[in-house]
Amino acid sequence: MYRATLKKLNKSYRFWISVALGAAIAISVSAAETEYRFIVKKGDTLSLYFSMLGFNNKTLSNVLSSSNNNKDLNSLVIGQTLSIGVDKNKQFEFLSYNVKQDRWVNVDNSGNYFIANKNKKNNLKSIETKTITINSSLSYDAKKANVDPLIVDTIVRVFSWKVNFKRDLMKGDKFIIIGSNNKNPMALIFKSKSTNIALFSYKDRYGNVDYYDSSGLSVRSSFLSAPLNYKRISSKFQKSRYHPILKEWRPHRAVDYTAKKGTPVYSTADGFIKLARRNGGLGNVVYIKHGNDHLTVYAHLSKFAKGLKTNKKVKKGEVIGYVGSTGNSTGPHLHYEIRYKGERKDPLKYNIPEQRKINPIDLAVFKKRAKNILNSL
Ligand SMILES: [Zn+2]
Repeated sequence: MYRATLKKLNKSYRFWISVALGAAIAISVSAAETEYRFIVKKGDTLSLYFSMLGFNNKTLSNVLSSSNNNKDLNSLVIGQTLSIGVDKNKQFEFLSYNVKQDRWVNVDNSGNYFIANKNKKNNLKSIETKTITINSSLSYDAKKANVDPLIVDTIVRVFSWKVNFKRDLMKGDKFIIIGSNNKNPMALIFKSKSTNIALFSYKDRYGNVDYYDSSGLSVRSSFLSAPLNYKRISSKFQKSRYHPILKEWRPHRAVDYTAKKGTPVYSTADGFIKLARRNGGLGNVVYIKHGNDHLTVYAHLSKFAKGLKTNKKVKKGEVIGYVGSTGNSTGPHLHYEIRYKGERKDPLKYNIPEQRKINPIDLAVFKKRAKNILNSL
């Protein structure tokens, strides 16, 4: 009777019912998460609690099958405490059950997976993990490790912001894929002799899946709105303009910034130098690759920054050269291009990628998840 009533009402009055029946104490953990704490009573089952919270049977079976040893969850001990976290979409977030002193069963919902761990020791055994060890090339070695090509695409897209695939990959380097049966694995880890980069997937409020480091910052860099402190814009992005030196009409798919000779020019985002040399009409030019899809071009420089060379890693805002008038140029200015997948975009209008941050209300859960994953390795 008590179950039937709950089932009927729990959709909209869940909180109120739980409290009214004395079955659970609801604790608001954050705006995004509420923890329901149950003291196990005679006849209570996990299935009862789940139905009170409005979870479907699939959630129950996912939670039960996540644990290698789910006996503890199948017969609850009277008087013990069981907490269930519910996210703002009313979905299962976590379970923490104190079986007896020093013995806990914890289950985390990690987006696509349920991670169970016992006695606070993590257990990711139920999650498929694959490792690509670099021996000849990423794609070849990935195939050998039986990794889905879609995941290899994700690896390249995501790690291109941090790893120069053309130069940095060495024999013996490893990509560890956690949750490799999913197109967007829950974690991707790059291990080399000198670096260790761990990235974790997170789905934001709009449903975008992106990869974030353990502090909650997305892997992609944001872009500066301009690569220098300029006086004025002398030529915008346009389909056709009269070129003063070449004396012909041609497209100008770039922005020209007028500035004094010697004005420092900054890389507009994190990236790797693709090219830095004298190149015909562009004069002294720097090409910088940002991630897999973006390239920026800085032309007519008077000189390059010290130590600038191909494949060098640069940070957003790092000086890469100085304004000049080399190549086909009538006076000191910076010719700046931004290309996305090879196509020139208007730097003044192009919606350049923003660095994303984990929503603050999800951050604690995200960090806990990241820690669980790292601890399990
Ligand atoms: Zn130009």
